[in-house]
Amino acid sequence: PEDLALLSGETDLSFGAPDTSSWPTVAIVGRPNVGKSTLVNRILGRREAVVLDEPGVTRDRVTYEAQWNGRDFHLVDTGGWDVGVKGLDKAVAQQAEIAISLADVALFVVDANVGATASDEEMMRLLRSSKKPVILAANKVDSERAEADAAALWNLGLGEPYPISALHGRGVGDLLDVLVQALPEVGENRVERPSDSTPRVALVGRPNVGKSSLLNSLAGSGRAVVSEVPGTTRDPVDEVLELEGKEWVFVDTAGIRRRIKQTVGADYYSVLRTQAAIENAEVALVLLDGGEPLTEQDVKVVNQVVEAGRALVIVNNKWDLVDEYRQQVLKREQVADLAHVDWAPKINIAAKTGWHTNRIVRALEAALEGWTTRIPTSRLNAFLGELVAAHPHPLRGGKQPRILYATQAGVCPPRFVLFTTGFLDPQYRRFVERRLRETFGFVGSPVRIGVRVRE
Ligand code: GDP
Ligand code: GDP
Repeated sequence: PEDLALLSGETDLSFGAPDTSSWPTVAIVGRPNVGKSTLVNRILGRREAVVLDEPGVTRDRVTYEAQWNGRDFHLVDTGGWDVGVKGLDKAVAQQAEIAISLADVALFVVDANVGATASDEEMMRLLRSSKKPVILAANKVDSERAEADAAALWNLGLGEPYPISALHGRGVGDLLDVLVQALPEVGENRVERPSDSTPRVALVGRPNVGKSSLLNSLAGSGRAVVSEVPGTTRDPVDEVLELEGKEWVFVDTAGIRRRIKQTVGADYYSVLRTQAAIENAEVALVLLDGGEPLTEQDVKVVNQVVEAGRALVIVNNKWDLVDEYRQQVLKREQVADLAHVDWAPKINIAAKTGWHTNRIVRALEAALEGWTTRIPTSRLNAFLGELVAAHPHPLRGGKQPRILYATQAGVCPPRFVLFTTGFLDPQYRRFVERRLRETFGFVGSPVRIGVRVRE
């Protein structure tokens, strides 16, 4: 009763982080020291992006959630490049490419006191060739007197320069009005989905693997925070369980508990139901029957999780039925058919007795951690630099595609964009992924690697 009180009344039962993946993306570009991170702070209304006195010092965090006039968008600060190592020209080119490939609108910041430099003109040329909307902010216009400096930036040919003072906030509101008007309804590039609320788990697997037994076991050992919505006759779709002192939403448990008997179209229905559960969750627990041979349907469920880009934990249930011989066979089956998900945590349990079910939470947490891992751009590029030097792409028809640099476009799951001079062999791409995993982990998470070929 105490638990139900907690969640009665107006409690929102639609737990989980809002899906921000469709938000449009704005990339802030410009030379070091023009005031990009000051502007990021100003837009966010808090001092989150650290302003550093030394120009070009690497910043780790790149994407922020921002809002103006009720419009949500992602703000990408491309300023975190190690200019000292790579040189300003390269940094400008890289920023421009990242902005062009990840953003819906580029916000180009120029220091109005300095005026347009050669690097600014180079940036302008790159941005213009992309045909992405560009908004020009003339920063450090701290007073009305300085507005003449801003007007001089008309000759960059990017249209009206908006005079602002990121430091004092002057003109920033007008700039943001123009900016949100230029945003598309839905972002072209899905960015990320932070997951700081109650994690959502999809418990999936073919019939009879033990899903409802596991659910009962977990509900019995843990604390069922809500198993029914009071005052309604409808089945609760999701169930909140407190496990190891933390709440977890198990999605679509009604389907598991009700054990709907389907005759016609049972397969299609269960595939759809599984798909919906996976998409409504952040992490999927795929249950396998340890006592039975691995089936095609088992592999299909695993693949659904990977394709949906969710975190994955593989659970071999009915371990009480697994003798030594079966254990050997099972190992071989999984090496043969589940090699493509060898990054997923695997645990062995017996749902019926509750044996080792207490290991599930740790596995879920590990997978969610992998799913939300963000690699700072500088570390990523240091890693790639070494990798490419030691293992260059094989020659193809006299040409050798090179990876120039990379950036992480998002998390949930981690997504990377490699900027290259040519298409990469699938083999080489897999090799890069393998090395990425060896170096940075991503336990329990798919990893997406995109390639942008530079002309
Ligand atoms: P970034 O390298 O482009 O991210 O630049 P920062 O945001 O780190 O700013 C560089 C320097 O310019 C800092 O010392 C800021 O305080 C200063 N700055 C930023 N915006 C303004 C502004 O609107 N007016 C003035 N006077 N200084 C600013
Ligand atoms: P579901 O269809 O995936 O929800 O599977 P159920 O939970 O209904 O389980 C199917 C059958 O497997 C039932 O007869 C369970 O008693 C049995 N079962 C579930 N877990 C275990 C286990 O750990 N060991 C053994 N031996 N049987 C189990």
